Amino acid sequence: MIGVTVLGSTGSIGASTLDVLRRHRERYRLVAVTAHTDVKGMRTQCLEWRPEFAVMSDPDAAQRLRDELRPAAPDVEVLAGADGLSRVATLDEVQYVMAAIVGAAGLMPTLAAARAGKRVLLANKESLVMSGRLFMDAIRQNGAALLPIDSEHNALFQCMPGGYRAGLRPEGVRRILLTASGGPFRSTPLGELDQVTPEQACAHPNWVMGRKISVDSATMMNKGLEVIEAHWLFGAAPDQIEVVIHPQSVIHSLVQYADGSVLAQLGNPDMRTPIAHALAWPERVDAGVAPLDLFKVARLDFERPDLARFPCLRLAWEALRAGGAATAILNAANEAAVAAFLAREIPFTGIARIVGDTLAGVPLTAADTLDQVLAADAEARAFAAGLAQRWAA
Ligand code: NAD
Ligand code: MG
Repeated sequence: MIGVTVLGSTGSIGASTLDVLRRHRERYRLVAVTAHTDVKGMRTQCLEWRPEFAVMSDPDAAQRLRDELRPAAPDVEVLAGADGLSRVATLDEVQYVMAAIVGAAGLMPTLAAARAGKRVLLANKESLVMSGRLFMDAIRQNGAALLPIDSEHNALFQCMPGGYRAGLRPEGVRRILLTASGGPFRSTPLGELDQVTPEQACAHPNWVMGRKISVDSATMMNKGLEVIEAHWLFGAAPDQIEVVIHPQSVIHSLVQYADGSVLAQLGNPDMRTPIAHALAWPERVDAGVAPLDLFKVARLDFERPDLARFPCLRLAWEALRAGGAATAILNAANEAAVAAFLAREIPFTGIARIVGDTLAGVPLTAADTLDQVLAADAEARAFAAGLAQRWAA
């Protein structure tokens, strides 16, 4: 039996992960689950799974969960805070860690899992965007394995040469083609983007996801973060990565080889496919996903992204080229701006403005140590939140 910790188990990726685990109880044992404040969701998961540990990163929520579980499931140990997250990411009885916390909050426990030599199933792209070099070094130096969960990167991983491990520069690869749906505003008139609401931004045409990544998909900052993620995962230079808009979300990404071959991975847009792939790799198991019906798909379309419509994508590329802590600054500014948009404090188009102004306004430092990364994150977050506040006033 393989012991599994699911960080962020109450979220969208977390729920899909438990759905796959439920189909393979003979292979995997769920040892620990974690959430931020969702006591109700966590209680339900604890009653079904009886894990050894449940972590609430919010201490008050941890106390409430403890009170609720005492009569119903006294065998589940409830831990609190960031220490609890890192502890369950490094337990001896855990071999696989699903990193599915959203945002910068995911960095420390995900890094802890890498340092403890676990198989890291990485959904939390923000940790690679913040500290790609540190993170990849931690994987390499501690004999950990890194399996991408982001559907595009999981597709790319599947299209890599046999025996490939994340972090290595693959032999014979010329380009990486990252597909993008273009989100809900791909063809909204530019003049109307100022008025769109959080509800419209979160209504993705092909995927059901958490609110933060849904907004990121609508601005295409998500694809920008994924360009940075691909750079670190596959050792690709910025100009070896191309973004292709593909509205059907059937081809999840492609690898172009020196001999002219292009390999693609296709499937229905369902995150249980990459999750099952990463859990079972190098084997294959049932994910509960319906087979792809090519006759129903009928056609596949491609277009070039419009950087005037999606300035966040351009900003992400610029941050990657700038190097150092620029991508940590980008990520922090984006998290602050998206939170302000979801709180209806700034318009949708304000997200790119705030990210751009933060990149221009916060001094660029190196990102060689965790302290430098965390300092850049904190400074950019405060700077961007200040801009958002002035907007709201
Ligand atoms: P979500 O909002 O649905 O869930 C987030 C989870 O993280 C929840 O369990 C929540 O309790 C926990 N969490 C939130 N804030 C926290 C904090 N401050 N401290 C500790 N835990 C916290 O998000 P999601 O859509 O499942 O996305 C999770 C990650 O996976 C993100 O990094 C996202 O970019 C990535 N991802 C998601 C999808 C998708 O289809 N949903 C696809 C690719 C990548
Ligand atoms: Mg993705």
